[in-house]
Amino acid sequence: MTTVVLGGGYAGIMAANRLAARGAPVQLVTTRPWFVERIRLHTVASGARVDARVPLDELLDERVELTLGTAVRAGSDVLELESGGDVPFETLVLAVGSGASPAPDATWRSGGAWGSGAAMSPRAFRVTEEDDAARLRAELEARPDARVTVVGAGLTGIELAGALTAAGRSVRLVSAHEPRRAATKAHLAELARRGVTIETGVHLDVEHLEDTHDEVLVDATGLLVPPLAHESGLPTDEHGRLIVDETLSVPGHPRILGAGDAVLVRDPRARHLRAACATALPMGAHAADVILARADGQDPAPFDLGYLMQCVDLGNGRGHVQLVRPDDSERAIALTGRAGGLLKETVCRLTLQWMARAGRYSWPAGPAVAAAPALAR
Ligand SMILES: Cc1cc2nc3c(=O)[nH]c(=O)nc-3n(C[C@H](O)[C@H](O)[C@H](O)COP(=O)(O)OP(=O)(O)OC[C@H]3O[C@@H](n4cnc5c(N)ncnc54)[C@H](O)[C@@H]3O)c2cc1C
Repeated sequence: MTTVVLGGGYAGIMAANRLAARGAPVQLVTTRPWFVERIRLHTVASGARVDARVPLDELLDERVELTLGTAVRAGSDVLELESGGDVPFETLVLAVGSGASPAPDATWRSGGAWGSGAAMSPRAFRVTEEDDAARLRAELEARPDARVTVVGAGLTGIELAGALTAAGRSVRLVSAHEPRRAATKAHLAELARRGVTIETGVHLDVEHLEDTHDEVLVDATGLLVPPLAHESGLPTDEHGRLIVDETLSVPGHPRILGAGDAVLVRDPRARHLRAACATALPMGAHAADVILARADGQDPAPFDLGYLMQCVDLGNGRGHVQLVRPDDSERAIALTGRAGGLLKETVCRLTLQWMARAGRYSWPAGPAVAAAPALAR
């Protein structure tokens, strides 16, 4: 039997390609025959790009066996597909990402005047998954004069506001929180200079806003993990993220590993990790390394990741690349404007190369937190 990787995103493709590059049998199960560059979805929504797809046959190592399908449950040695088929595994890497739609509830309705079947409120659009971005773009095209209110000034909301203002839209960016990081303050100042109305410290109750036809509402308040791990009876946190240990393995389920946004690493070395493709890529590679080490009878190393920078696309070819310490805290250096935009675009392109050449991919070591408990003893 073989290793099965579930989810053809940044983490899953990295894991599958790395295993294949090192000669291990591997099967990738994923929903679509293309990879979605989620880091570009704001530009799909704004109309600057037609889509963010890369065909899997351009990205996937030819030794990876590809199965298209949607998994509905992960058992102890078999993956159950929506189609009714089963995929047996010796080892499973769960890498389903954070592009889930909110579950239907009393305040949620599909379709309707505002056209979104996947919104947290009846009115709000989203940009977290390719279908969400396409729906938002269609709505914007249908209502060219409507103002766009983006709720949430995290990086998704900021990048979307930048792309929309570059596309000539009137944009309001609303955040319940005041920005704390210097880089976020700089992003908001740049957007304000370009005409975006910024409202911070304002809690907008998106579920109870009046319907107005001169406004399109976008919910950029967070990412949602699919319920698969929870529904499979695996340990999850309150957000549905699969809990894994320092070797990215699920406690009590040694044949199951996790990687990417859908995972919470319960280890002091992982406190600084953020949901990002910058995290998903090394996690996918490390999951592969753990499997390979065990196959060789060796103890796997703990997952250890340090960040170098945080890259943000502000639209119009402008960007902000903030240099950070391994623990993701800001250094005093940033590359902004067109130079920042160029570096950001280069990094986006490099992510594809890193996945395609997964066998050679490496990443910086994390902050020295592992030593702290030993010193305290
Ligand atoms: C607009 C936007 C901009 C962003 N910009 C940046 C950025 O600049 N830098 C950065 O670091 N991060 C950025 N991010 C975050 C980044 O996209 C995510 O952190 C990254 O995609 C996580 O990778 P992943 O492999 O965990 O999940 P994904 O890339 O989402 O991949 C998950 C895969 O699993 C598949 N899948 C899910 N459920 C199932 C199932 N049941 N059966 C089969 N297949 C399944 C999905 O179809 C998908 O192919 C951005 C996100 C958005 C939305």
